[in-house]
Amino acid sequence: MTPPRDLCNTSWRQAVQAATHRALEARERLLADYPEWPIWRRQIKNLKNEVVRNWPEYVARLRSQVEGWGGVVYLAQDASEARHYILKVAQKHGARRIIQSKSMTAHEIGLESFLRSQGLKLTETDLGEFIVQLAGHPPAHLTAPALHLNRHQISRILSHHLGQDAPEEPGPLTRYAAKALVPRYEEAEMGITGVNFAAAREGVLVCLENEGNLRLTASRPPVHLALMGWDKLVPSLEALVPGLRLLPASATGQRLTSLVHFFRGRKSLPHGDQAFYLVILDHGRSRLAAHPEVREALYCLRCGACLNICPVFQMGAAYLYGRVYPGAIGILLAPFLPPPGDLTDMCTQCGSCKEVCPADIDLPGKIRYLRQKARSFRIYHTLAASAGVLLGEPRMFRFFEASARRLLPQGSRKTLGWLSGFGPASESFWTRWKKGGSKRSKRSKNRVILAEKGLFIGGDAETPGFPGKVQGHEVSRAAEGHFVKGGAAARFAEAGSTVVHLAGPQELARYLAATARGEIWLAEQPPLTRVALELSRLGVPFCQVGEHWAPEADTAVTPGLGAIPETGSVMVAPGSGPAVWLPYKARRHVVLVPLGQSALSLKEALTLTAESRSHWISWLTGPTRTADIEKLLVLGAQGPEELTIIFYSGDHGES
Ligand code: SF4
Repeated sequence: MTPPRDLCNTSWRQAVQAATHRALEARERLLADYPEWPIWRRQIKNLKNEVVRNWPEYVARLRSQVEGWGGVVYLAQDASEARHYILKVAQKHGARRIIQSKSMTAHEIGLESFLRSQGLKLTETDLGEFIVQLAGHPPAHLTAPALHLNRHQISRILSHHLGQDAPEEPGPLTRYAAKALVPRYEEAEMGITGVNFAAAREGVLVCLENEGNLRLTASRPPVHLALMGWDKLVPSLEALVPGLRLLPASATGQRLTSLVHFFRGRKSLPHGDQAFYLVILDHGRSRLAAHPEVREALYCLRCGACLNICPVFQMGAAYLYGRVYPGAIGILLAPFLPPPGDLTDMCTQCGSCKEVCPADIDLPGKIRYLRQKARSFRIYHTLAASAGVLLGEPRMFRFFEASARRLLPQGSRKTLGWLSGFGPASESFWTRWKKGGSKRSKRSKNRVILAEKGLFIGGDAETPGFPGKVQGHEVSRAAEGHFVKGGAAARFAEAGSTVVHLAGPQELARYLAATARGEIWLAEQPPLTRVALELSRLGVPFCQVGEHWAPEADTAVTPGLGAIPETGSVMVAPGSGPAVWLPYKARRHVVLVPLGQSALSLKEALTLTAESRSHWISWLTGPTRTADIEKLLVLGAQGPEELTIIFYSGDHGES
């Protein structure tokens, strides 16, 4: 894929600026509630430092754990080795149709074009990635690949490639794209996912997502291959507490993404045991780790916050850089990840990236270091020294500024196209400032956004994790209960979940009967056996999961392991066999949590996950969602649009 040529397309630039500002606003709102932020930053920095210094040891530990859980691990020295190994795996399993959930590492190794050249078809399943794949663009951002496109452009792209008129509103447009992906999941013979963190001690791969596409990609095909750079390693699951807080907050302003998966080796699925492969990539990372000045670039969590705040990135998103990793972090990685490059002149040294980086990487300082080592530095140094003389003498500066403005009048600037960016503006910043600031800031202050036809109102609606008011629906009854109190109860509502407290199977059955709008499907697991009996007694029709691929249920009911009030999350073990796919296509997912497990801390939940013998545990935080179209929130992206958490106790109200 080649980068789009028209880098200065005004609508793209506006879309990039609007989307990145929204992401930063969401982050700011959440950080106001996180006084411990500097402590977590220090913790993750120390932890990453430990891994980068001793990475061969951690890679060996992860490898032996994953192999112990039935997975196959391959260490790839470079992109070519990784590509060829993935091809070999596909050929071994006869896979020609491959699905992939968002992975920057896959872009780093040029996987899609390579597989295509070998006659294999790879479909991206993340909505944003799917759109840019159809458009033939590389991703515009680390976490929001289609942020340069507005809804009209996306609608035109989907209409052109999918052969039908696509709607233009974000909600229907999302559902249209999700529907187009369904047959691709069903025919796929292999699924490829990225990895956000890999816990070496337990051999657990941690994957964060919002849409539900990663869950489908990792569990629908008979083969799952995970691809990661070794810089995703952390010593243990327990050490992940700061990382789980920092990454979603910095990326999307969420306490936690809608889904966090913990995969451990080979999964058991309705069609039998799934083959599992893990490819661990070096591709220049060991060279970077050996560089004492710049190795902290390997602490990066790939949150994208440094892109959102960068004034250079705003001018043309990732396409300005011509490499997979853009922004300040891309500048640091460029000399080390092959083919080596020098992007050090793509930085204004404003320093804002250092302020927002959750891993506390000294991005501007390290860019300055690389710039001084770059060949072109001497020329720039001479130019900068001359500019320093000019700027240091106000009369001389004003003379040159006025002359330049006269020599390059307004009319000729218009005809210069993208080169006009290098000419002086029609009036100086100081003159504009005196006239009263920019119009855009006033507009944004007064903005009222409708995310979905009248469903969400207010600035919160545009931000994942801050769904605002859901009109006409009960949001939460948690505050009425005695199990989770005050601010903690509000976190479930903030994530968009409905929370209720019920005692005994009769109450549970009556609640399900009263709230379901269609078919009820129950997992065949212990807490639901008596609920099934009660539903029968009440004469309410229901189904118990069989050998079906994701029934089109209204309500899917599964047991949960516990709830985490801090993030508003509920833990589920998808288990094995038919129950795995039960909630995928349901409108509403209902999770039953024993009352005694309703108030786990993040650390306790990670310990429970680490101690579990399950191959797969997921944490659900509100319904699935996406903000891939103009950063506007749409619920029910590629999974349930409602999540109900039922804290249940026994017949007499005891847990
Ligand atoms: S360098 Fe820091 S801010 Fe930039 S993507 Fe990495 S973790 Fe995020």
